[in-house]
Amino acid sequence: MDKIKRIAMVAHDERKQDLLEWIQYNEQSLRPHALFATGTTGGLIKKTFPSLSVTPMQSGPLGGDQQLGALIADNKLDMLIFLMDPMSPHPHDVDIKALLRLAVLYNIPAAYNRSTADFIISSPLFKDAYEPVMKDYSDYLDRKA
Ligand code: PGA
Repeated sequence: MDKIKRIAMVAHDERKQDLLEWIQYNEQSLRPHALFATGTTGGLIKKTFPSLSVTPMQSGPLGGDQQLGALIADNKLDMLIFLMDPMSPHPHDVDIKALLRLAVLYNIPAAYNRSTADFIISSPLFKDAYEPVMKDYSDYLDRKA
């Protein structure tokens, strides 16, 4: 990944305020980077921080998490900040699980709570180019051929 990161942002409804606070605190650090977000989260970020570059997808329950997952699989996202609400059921639970799986599969830095997001953004690696090690799946592909 380049110095300029492509960062996915998602917040469940009970965590949207937390995400906005976190962004406010880190606005300077985030300004050079390109943000992508599920619809409602992205709309809120855009409205609250007009100076940030944010591309909203569909709302999460309408496919936004899947769109972010597709960007990860296409190597078009470098990290994921997803502030999750562990106390509420979500109609798109399977989509969320798929997104988390792809973040693990493609070995991108992913935060599911605020303190992990703090650790990611304050890491010296955040300011530099970085190449995540990709597991070699050629055996798997050979078996399928
Ligand atoms: P939203 O989606 O940003 O459209 O609310 C978040 C989610 O996936 O729950």
